[in-house]
Amino acid sequence: MPGVEEYFVVTNFPSVLRERMLSPDAIFIRGDDGCIITYQDYWDLSGRLANALSEQGVKIGDRVAVQVGKSVEALALFLACARLGAILLPLNTAYTSTEVAYFVDDAQPAVLICEPEKLAVFSTLCRTILTLDDNGGGTLLHGPSPLFEDVATTMDDPVAILYTSGTTGKSKGAVLTHGNLVSNALALVEAWDFTPRDVLIHALPIYHTHGLFTATNTVLLSGGSLLFRRKFDADDVVDLLPQATTLMGVPTFYTRLLAHDKLTRDLVRHMRLFVSGSAPLLIETHRAFEEKTGHAILERYGMTETSMNTSNPYGGERRAGTVGKPLKGIDVRVTNPSYGIGMIEVRGPNVFQSYWRNPEKTAAEFTKDGYFITGDLGSFDEQGYLTISGRGKDLVITGGFNVYPKEVEVEIDALADVVESAVIGLPHGDLGEAVVAVVVGRKGAPEIDEKVMIAALQTRLAKFKVPKKIIAVAELPRNAMGKVQKNQLRATYGRLFQS
Ligand code: AMP
Repeated sequence: MPGVEEYFVVTNFPSVLRERMLSPDAIFIRGDDGCIITYQDYWDLSGRLANALSEQGVKIGDRVAVQVGKSVEALALFLACARLGAILLPLNTAYTSTEVAYFVDDAQPAVLICEPEKLAVFSTLCRTILTLDDNGGGTLLHGPSPLFEDVATTMDDPVAILYTSGTTGKSKGAVLTHGNLVSNALALVEAWDFTPRDVLIHALPIYHTHGLFTATNTVLLSGGSLLFRRKFDADDVVDLLPQATTLMGVPTFYTRLLAHDKLTRDLVRHMRLFVSGSAPLLIETHRAFEEKTGHAILERYGMTETSMNTSNPYGGERRAGTVGKPLKGIDVRVTNPSYGIGMIEVRGPNVFQSYWRNPEKTAAEFTKDGYFITGDLGSFDEQGYLTISGRGKDLVITGGFNVYPKEVEVEIDALADVVESAVIGLPHGDLGEAVVAVVVGRKGAPEIDEKVMIAALQTRLAKFKVPKKIIAVAELPRNAMGKVQKNQLRATYGRLFQS
């Protein structure tokens, strides 16, 4: 890596990293296998990976599809692609070969990198298939040089395609540019006050924007370090907390930590920041965590297509149940509100370029004045804090009235004996859709009494918002990012009102 005195033309993600990397010997990663990787090591590793890909014929603009377990090498593939001008296409490790075949067919990657045990199954999917195991072994890396001359790219060049989780229809590939990722990482470094002294517990998967970009790039561009874990384990994280300054997680991390008997105020007294996102953090979890630890979790809002859009303030009041205010340089508006709630739209340097080879879908999701229509419904309060009411497609229309699931969920969650709930609309002959609540009761509490609960809700909600049916379950179906899978609930209970 060149010394500080050298002059860099800052044109893309790697050049911004080099410019900000003032101490190449500083530690970037401490792994759960005991490995210690400095910034220089990480840069060299990305050079080796870039050389390995280049030897396989990967060129500027080519896609590199990756479905492998979490490892330092897998993380560094992003920087390798960025230096090579290639486009990283990370895939959830849970995807089946049929699903991977869809992504490969859609994105036409030059190379597919998979776990060694999947090689046989994937053999016909792509002309060049390389392997990478959890320890950096496999056919991808076998001794290429760390010296790599970066390919010239600009902030407008694509550097990653992240496929959306596709709960309605087929997944779409969101094309993100160097500029998208640089601007967002720098906005977060500033908003959350990251410095080289920061040590972040990284226990998120790296096939999703949260772990791959938000957590990693904020630290990378601030000069701090990661305590890099293959997966989240509450015992492990509790043991690590004394060495850390920050944690970024999904709400499930916080409910699991709260349930841990070793989580005390003393254990986290030195911590600087706990961040939550990717799914709504229950107000109750926010309050319970603050009561137990003295830390108000900072909740923020982002998505695959945009990275982070809004955040509760680092320095000011963090309001439970809200996702805070727009980040610097990002415009967020709520359009066509009815009773304050409307569609959330976002414009700024963070917003993705397009859906991969899908100009119709891209055009349909942007307004004439350049705002991306997020599909999330929400409202701003008088102080400018945004509250998300749910996905537009989850809105329930019952007897001609709009019901925002969140509004009903908040009331249900406030009842004694309830841990959490998910409100959905189910086909109903008379009403079109009927409001239904799926509820998780507190352990040890008496079983949920539907009649009592409905009576309690009738005193707090307009009649049309009160659930027609309450279903008790042991837990809500969630994906790896902690999002409740409402489409799954709708499929399970879809025929409830049909004879
Ligand atoms: P993904 O593209 O997988 O990151 O999912 C993005 C979606 O997650 C957003 O459009 C929101 O619906 C939801 N989301 C992300 N962060 C939050 C949050 N803090 N509160 C509520 N929903 C969130």
